[in-house]
Amino acid sequence: MKIERPRGTRDFLPDEMEKRRAIEKVMRRIAESYGYREVLTPTFEHLELFTIKSGEGIVEEIYAFKDKGGRDLALRPELTAPVIRMFVNECTGMPKPLRFYYFANCFRYERPQKGRYREFWQFGVELIGSASPLADAEVISLAYRIMDELKIDFDLHVGHVGLLRHMLRDVEENVASKIMRLIDKKDVEGLEAYLDEIGIESDLRDSIFSLIELVGGREVMDSAREIIPDFDFGHIERVCDVLDSLEVEYRLDFGIARGLDYYTGVVFEAYAKEGLGAQNQICGGGSYRLAHLFGGDDTPATGFALGFDRIAEICNVEPERKKIVVVVSFKGLEGEAFRIAEMLRDKAVVVTDVMERNVKRQLSYANDLNADVAVIVGERELREGKVAVKDLKSGEQRTVGIEDLLGVI
Ligand code: ATP
Ligand code: MG
Repeated sequence: MKIERPRGTRDFLPDEMEKRRAIEKVMRRIAESYGYREVLTPTFEHLELFTIKSGEGIVEEIYAFKDKGGRDLALRPELTAPVIRMFVNECTGMPKPLRFYYFANCFRYERPQKGRYREFWQFGVELIGSASPLADAEVISLAYRIMDELKIDFDLHVGHVGLLRHMLRDVEENVASKIMRLIDKKDVEGLEAYLDEIGIESDLRDSIFSLIELVGGREVMDSAREIIPDFDFGHIERVCDVLDSLEVEYRLDFGIARGLDYYTGVVFEAYAKEGLGAQNQICGGGSYRLAHLFGGDDTPATGFALGFDRIAEICNVEPERKKIVVVVSFKGLEGEAFRIAEMLRDKAVVVTDVMERNVKRQLSYANDLNADVAVIVGERELREGKVAVKDLKSGEQRTVGIEDLLGVI
């Protein structure tokens, strides 16, 4: 009986893995160049870490379970809460700001579909300790640089949840949160129905709809000001100033609500223009406060998470390919072949026969591997300290002294 993978999970074959590693490498390189350093938290956490802010409702989307000691645990659905938990537990004495990045798998009990899995990977950063617009600008431009370097065709939208929250300041928290979630899902019909259901004032209703429709260049800031005259736009203006000076291309979008409840200020999302269909959001982030909920001091932070699987789906980076050498040996010379192979592994990927095949079939396997060079270890050459080297692309063959082999390959 064949055993299938669990629904919503994936296997990654070598070609796919090599591509994913190449993408990961770009992400790491750029994050590190901004001073971010890698962290890793456990795959599972106390369930409470994820329900504290988002409420029990989120349990439906989480892989939650009891361990043998009866503790409520959860596979992490994201890494922001875990990283802030770690910060509160271990890092409060470190000089601020802290710049952390992570690359890890996350688990969500969602309906599997293209671009939506039950196990998926996120690459993200958290910049902890600053509430300045400069922190937002740094994090947004870092996300932008990564997607740009990966040659993804994307739209970056920048907004501020403070506007919606300000509008909803007199609305009960769980009602506000539900409204934000409907806005996040761009579920206009659902939103209309819900606003009717709670009998919202018509002025407020109109303002909400006008605000979430505001998408565009910096001019939409003026329209937003007309809708919410008593909101301080100074912070987002400054973020925009820095982004403009860095020539980061973005659109203002005051309809970004983000699904998670912890965002407090500037928020941003990126959408791939092609190749992903409905699941086109490839990045989400913003500024938030969580540390005080986990027993720490109230600490501002800003971060983002890139949806690694969605990016891998549309990204065309060529993994760097090392030269492949196959060391082919006549019977009885396998030990010599192994020794020569070891000598060459500093410079190339070197493969030897482990199937006890004859020379012809070893060469045929070299072709299957799309190898570049075959080193043929034969009795006669070996006696003179030599081997035959065959260029498998051109077919050319010559005899080379073993000590010169490294230089030839
Ligand atoms: P969506 O709105 O698509 O459900 P999200 O807003 O819940 O995503 P975040 O929590 O912001 O997502 O996670 C950051 C990124 O992780 C998303 O932009 C997306 O690219 C990716 N992502 C989220 N959930 C999944 C999933 N189930 N499978 C694959 N990628 C995912
Ligand atoms: Mg979302």
